[in-house]
Amino acid sequence: MEKLNIEIPNFGELKQIEEDLYWTQFELPFRLNHVNLFFLVTNDGWLIIDSGLKSDHSHEMWNNLLNGPLCMQKICGLIITHYHPDHMGMAGWLQKKFNVPAYTTEKEFFTANKLLSMSEEEYSKLFNHVFQRAGMPLDQKNEMLKATRLYKNRVYELPKFEIIKKGKVFNSKNGKWIVRTDSGHSPEHISMFDEKRKLYLAGDFLLPRISPNISDNFFDPKDDRLGGYLTYLNDIKKIGSETLVFPCHDWPFKKGNERADNLIRHHENRLNILKNEMAEKKINIMNSIDLIFDRKIGNEQMHFAIGEARAHLIHLESIGFARSETDLNEVVWYQKN
Ligand SMILES: [Zn+2]
Repeated sequence: MEKLNIEIPNFGELKQIEEDLYWTQFELPFRLNHVNLFFLVTNDGWLIIDSGLKSDHSHEMWNNLLNGPLCMQKICGLIITHYHPDHMGMAGWLQKKFNVPAYTTEKEFFTANKLLSMSEEEYSKLFNHVFQRAGMPLDQKNEMLKATRLYKNRVYELPKFEIIKKGKVFNSKNGKWIVRTDSGHSPEHISMFDEKRKLYLAGDFLLPRISPNISDNFFDPKDDRLGGYLTYLNDIKKIGSETLVFPCHDWPFKKGNERADNLIRHHENRLNILKNEMAEKKINIMNSIDLIFDRKIGNEQMHFAIGEARAHLIHLESIGFARSETDLNEVVWYQKN
């Protein structure tokens, strides 16, 4: 992988990277402290890709952009790559402001809509179940439940989405962008490839430094998200070494094929650790977290860790290596077949 020689824009600064492609960055109040947003210039106006977290900072950034560098530009639509709050958070606000089409995929919409419509009590019940199944000790579970942040605190009421599918084409002034959709970090994530110019808007699926978290599917415990992601990684290698990759976190890079290989090895390594352990004894999600992470996971990282560990276990079950059973306390245990 090779970092491109493009300076990262300041928060809210609009940076031109191609004649018809712009990039800005917003701040996030998390350990991952920023998100990248992109803009495609089309013959009908500017197409916004992702919207930022619902926050005072995002408001300030959008107001600065819309009253500043974008004040003379027509906004013609927005594409939301996936349902996570740092991408979908401001979509409803933007649509209200511009009354333009907002595009996402069916499963990303379904997940966002479901999370947004849940009451605090339903939310708490859902996560109680997630933590219980993982085998989390009671004290920790209660602390985690107290700290659980509601999706709706970070995401505006959804826009009226136009649902798109893989293969959809967006034309920009100088390019033709083909949508691909994949499962892994989220259920039906959008990324876009301009094959002729070898430009790839990767969303959260191909990041230069972070291994994209493979999230938990709260609503379908058998969904093999890691299997989906491994399929994606094997397929995306075809972009080769020359394609310029623009991810939603960190910096643009080349040699995305090598990065995909690294990520495959990373997950295979984790799968092997779990396989070895399972040869000895049955394990649950909390045991797996201790095994696959080389650092101690604090409560603030626990949601991600549970999703990640569970995705690996579900994958081993789905390829026939392991089977699972639920004990009387509702904890799920995995063992070698
Ligand atoms: Zn994400």
